[in-house]
Amino acid sequence: METKEQMNIVIVGHVDHGKSTVIGRLLADTGSLPEGKLEAVKEYCRKNSRPFEYAFLLDALKDEQAQGITIDTARCFFKTNKRDYIIIDAPGHIEFLKNMVTGASRAEAVLLVIDAKEGIQENSKRHGHIVSMLGIHQAVVLVNKMDLVHFDQGVFEKITGEFTEFLHKVNIKPVNFIPLSAFNGDNIAVRSEHTPWYGGPTVLEQLDQFANKKENQELPFRMPVQDIYKFTEQGDDRRIVAGTVLSGKIRTGDEVIFLPSKKRSIIKSIEGFHVAPRTTAYADQAIGLTLETQIYIKPGELLVKAEESQPVLSSRFRANIFWVGKAPLIKNKNYKLKIGTMRIGVKLVEILNIIDAAELNIDRFKDQVERHDVAECILETVKPIAFDPISELELTGRFVIVDNYEISGGGIILAGVSDSGHTL
Ligand code: GDP
Repeated sequence: METKEQMNIVIVGHVDHGKSTVIGRLLADTGSLPEGKLEAVKEYCRKNSRPFEYAFLLDALKDEQAQGITIDTARCFFKTNKRDYIIIDAPGHIEFLKNMVTGASRAEAVLLVIDAKEGIQENSKRHGHIVSMLGIHQAVVLVNKMDLVHFDQGVFEKITGEFTEFLHKVNIKPVNFIPLSAFNGDNIAVRSEHTPWYGGPTVLEQLDQFANKKENQELPFRMPVQDIYKFTEQGDDRRIVAGTVLSGKIRTGDEVIFLPSKKRSIIKSIEGFHVAPRTTAYADQAIGLTLETQIYIKPGELLVKAEESQPVLSSRFRANIFWVGKAPLIKNKNYKLKIGTMRIGVKLVEILNIIDAAELNIDRFKDQVERHDVAECILETVKPIAFDPISELELTGRFVIVDNYEISGGGIILAGVSDSGHTL
């Protein structure tokens, strides 16, 4: 049976600009609500002489979910013909930011909601900034409540112009701006007759146009070396290089490079654990490799294929960190960095930006990273390490920082940086 694609999307916006209404509409218009739920909530509002709000509908759904086993009130599910969506209501959720930065969860796209009447708020900008720090590349701006400005094209274009300019400053190139009236359903699932001047997709069409991430197998080969086992075969000392393939595939006869040592060899055989040797191994498989030549390497190295795109090799890099340590992350103190199977000493060199995750305040002038801060920093390891910038490959662009034997922070690497501060 073919399983349907799944995609996580994040929705952000200033309070009252209409996030709940957009989510409620997406659920209702895709038929993803439990039967009779919408009518029941509408009826409840009528009886209590309150105007119906999609926010009530979401609250009702969340109450229902909370009685089950999974209490995860920040997520809703809906489906189109193309794929299943999980929409994550964020940020302002410390757990969410932590999961995103440490890689526990991943979102492929973000919807930024702006109230057409109120326009861009300070919070809209903060959200833009966070989205940029999380490395989500596909962003769509939903200009909501167009009914309150009589679906005026001029208002829409003014917001589009101003916000595009801001987003460019934080390195986000929105793929589209969509004029909406979420409450009435204009341009959510059905094209609105009130916006004849708008020729782009509806929100649902736009979601289905987003590109999904590639399957791990389709990516370049990466395997962190977990261990080296020695054994004797026909009087010869031989070694098996053991690890789990993170991405890509490897075949016998492939030329490989160990990084950071840069030692090269050719794959002689691929051994499985409790299975017969094979000629090819794929992402997620735990394997042992024997090599054509006798080379000495250590656990912690990253094994890559010579013919494929190479990781960055550097001791300095720019990264986004989510800090959970009791003691703050400070400059010039020795920490341990864990990336893949590598453990290595690391220092904080410079803080470029800090966002307080609870208040979403951006503070450029703090000189330490406190618990629950998200910070863009420059880090330096004691020796060069191999990694991939998160925009290239996710699994080898993530790390954790250990302070005093405790995991105190997690992060993603944005780019390698040279000693003179240039991006590698
Ligand atoms: P949230 O705080 O961002 O989740 O905002 P809500 O979705 O709860 O919406 C805030 C208020 O704006 C509610 O009273 C909604 O009914 C109202 N609202 C949302 N979308 C629209 C819209 O398209 N047009 C109008 N006129 N009101 C809307």
